[in-house]
Amino acid sequence: MARIKILDKTFETTYTEADVLSAISRVADKISKDLTDKDPVFVCVLNGAFMFAADLMKRVNIPSQISFVKLASYSGTQSTGVTKELIGLNESLVGKTVVIIEDIVDTGITIANLMEQVRQKGATDVRVATLLYKPASCKLNWTPEYVGIEIPNDFIVGYGLDYDGYGRNIPEIMTLVKE
Ligand code: 5GP
Ligand code: MG
Repeated sequence: MARIKILDKTFETTYTEADVLSAISRVADKISKDLTDKDPVFVCVLNGAFMFAADLMKRVNIPSQISFVKLASYSGTQSTGVTKELIGLNESLVGKTVVIIEDIVDTGITIANLMEQVRQKGATDVRVATLLYKPASCKLNWTPEYVGIEIPNDFIVGYGLDYDGYGRNIPEIMTLVKE
């Protein structure tokens, strides 16, 4: 699958499924080493992180729990910067080590908001595992602890990420072709 069309836009492969899985294995190994005795709670941010979370959690080999939250902050190809919690965290995170599982950190607004909400629930160690990270776009004075792949400031789909709802099931990372 070199090029595909989704709605009005063309996307081309930039990372194959094998590239993505090797990045995820590296992240899972690092998390498993760092948090061996920490009994972490993983918090998967739906919808975008569903595929990353599944592949990551299959490779994390320490005792841990996983929970799911849902936020909306994006429509089309421009980030709106508005964060909204749709499905909240119900379990107690008091004193816990939490690893937030995200699909992508772009400006960082979404993740900063979520990290704050997780801290307010009492988590004492809050970390982020993101499949993709756009360092040039991130406005925060902070870097995600666990990054799969650093990418340029382009719009991508696949591996859970969508363009207007489509493309989440594509098992590789595809970048918008600028016409
Ligand atoms: P941030 O708040 O960091 O700017 O944006 C985070 C959210 O914007 C992500 O969770 C994701 O939903 C969306 N987003 C940012 N960049 C991209 C991209 O290149 N492709 C897609 N499909 N979504 C993106
Ligand atoms: Mg997201």
